Amino acid sequence: MKLSWKTFLLWSLPIMIISFFLWQGFLTPTSNDLNNNIANSRMTYGRFLEYLDMGWVKKVDIYDNGHTAIIEAVGPELGNRLQKIRVELPASAPELITKLKKNNIDLDAHPAKNNTAIWNLIGNLFFPLLLIGGLAYLFRRSNNTNGGPGQAMSFGKSKALFQMEAKTGVVFDDVAGIDEAKEEFEEVVTFLKQPESFTAVGAKIPKGVLLIGPPGTGKTLLAKAIAGEANVPFFSISGSEFVEMFVGVGASRVRDLFKKAKENAPCIVFIDEIDAVGRQRGTGIGGGNDEREQTLNQLLTEMDGFEGNTGIIVIAATNRADILDSALLRPGRFDRQVSVDVPDFKGRLAILNVHARNKKIDPKVALSIIARRTPGFSGADLANLLNEAAILTVRRKKNAITLNEIDTSIDRIVAGMEGMPLIDSKSKRLIAYHEVGHAIVGTLLKDHYPVQKVTLIPRGQARGLTWFTPSEDQNLISRSEIKARIMGALGGRAAEEIVFGDSEVTTGASNDLQQITSMARQMVTRFGMSSIGPLSLENEESNPFLGRGMVSSSEYSDEVAIKIDEQIQKIVQECHQNTLIIIQENRVVIDRLVDLLIEQETIEGEEFREIIAEYTSIPQKYEYAK
Ligand code: ADP
Ligand code: MG
Ligand code: ZN
Repeated sequence: MKLSWKTFLLWSLPIMIISFFLWQGFLTPTSNDLNNNIANSRMTYGRFLEYLDMGWVKKVDIYDNGHTAIIEAVGPELGNRLQKIRVELPASAPELITKLKKNNIDLDAHPAKNNTAIWNLIGNLFFPLLLIGGLAYLFRRSNNTNGGPGQAMSFGKSKALFQMEAKTGVVFDDVAGIDEAKEEFEEVVTFLKQPESFTAVGAKIPKGVLLIGPPGTGKTLLAKAIAGEANVPFFSISGSEFVEMFVGVGASRVRDLFKKAKENAPCIVFIDEIDAVGRQRGTGIGGGNDEREQTLNQLLTEMDGFEGNTGIIVIAATNRADILDSALLRPGRFDRQVSVDVPDFKGRLAILNVHARNKKIDPKVALSIIARRTPGFSGADLANLLNEAAILTVRRKKNAITLNEIDTSIDRIVAGMEGMPLIDSKSKRLIAYHEVGHAIVGTLLKDHYPVQKVTLIPRGQARGLTWFTPSEDQNLISRSEIKARIMGALGGRAAEEIVFGDSEVTTGASNDLQQITSMARQMVTRFGMSSIGPLSLENEESNPFLGRGMVSSSEYSDEVAIKIDEQIQKIVQECHQNTLIIIQENRVVIDRLVDLLIEQETIEGEEFREIIAEYTSIPQKYEYAK
């Protein structure tokens, strides 16, 4: 059914009248009074924003012409029960509405009781107008011909769910830190701009390029940049959108997509999450998936169907190339594969530079320090980091982002939101010993990263934290470095044991112990670092059907299994003994550091090392080669 203006007017008139009565008759009298909605606790606006970020807010009711909000939230500080809390809102709160929208939070505004007549009138006019606007929007959508989310009103035919951007506005300069991938694509851009230069010598450009890499590394961004650089339209669809309930819908969507693409060639077709359709066929758990296979077949047919030089280049993205159907990777399809990885130090610096362009950052801030502190961050994480820091800067009413806001944001992204510090008690003391234990073992061991800071301010799940700065991005880790890490991780428990005795040790070390066990196990089974010898006994092979890392294939006898366990125990026991000795020998300085930590809640790495230096002449005196 296509909507015409005539039917539109025909419908909107009665709706207007009905809505007028609705508004008059029902809505005004029942408007809730703020005072009926009793909230027994209060919260600051800043805290409320943090709650929003954490996703703890369930509902927001706004009263008092936008001055007051009653929110319903669940959070650890609220005893994990849904509670009503009153928040005073500042006069203008621009970020609030966007945040609420972004988090999809139930929002309700309640007009004040003393509505004047003029407000009533405006309200009465506004409501029907809103409806007309809504209808007009539907009408526009259904007449939309560019293949966007159109045909909202048509049945029988599949919904065209792909998006088209005539101009992406993204250029190569917006993509940083993945230079190899960019170089690979420069050729594609040249082809889209001047296909003649390729056809003249009989060269065929690849039809499909597969981008492989973890989430947030800039795959979508790169694909858009190619379209932007070549100044061609960008069609995109996500693999998960193909897979629908009804057999055949996915396939017809693929057909639609390629039909539109051909009409608009030269262009880029971007298929995100291609693994959702492109999995290895015929072996799925829970029976085959006809729909997916049909969709995949259609995709293969379409890719074979157009000649190499028609100017359509299909770019697909996935983070799991290993599970793709081999038919997709055959020549003439996605025969070129480009991997993008989590950026290294230089890459992170370049990405930070891109995202710092439109932000006001204090000139004293060296982006290289941030890059140093963020190993493992993806491009998206870094973008998010600078944005968080900018929001924090506004909240603190500063006019440029300083290192302080950036540090706070890094801590928050890595370890979760800051909680309230514990009051002085025995358990605070125990946590202090635990953290100082980690920090001192880490500091005194030759092969351990330096301590960045120790803190008793809880974050996320952790009650206290010791931060280490990894010096460089490391790909190769030596045996003594792994052992140093194991000892560092044991430092917390070891300090508890020595200071409070075996019967007082706590569950606080469970996370440490998990890491320790996993590191020791890998030393034995993957890195050949035990007396079993240089054998690879387990590899972290991904299973296409159960997800990465869930199944590790193992090929060894039961006797070897027993040996593995023995070796793991041996490594951990040795490290444990060494760690206990380090703690014992440095008990005096540990006691002093614990007192200081309890007093000031955080000790920075520099101060920490200075204090230790007062007690020992050799800074990193412990070394365990074996
Ligand atoms: P992916 O598709 O790999 O999951 P996206 O391309 O969607 O990642 O990246 C999300 C956002 O993160 C981008 O819009 C951009 O702001 C930022 N980003 C990611 N990688 C980079 C990069 N290499 N250079 C600049 N910004 C990046
Ligand atoms: Mg993406
Ligand atoms: Zn610990």
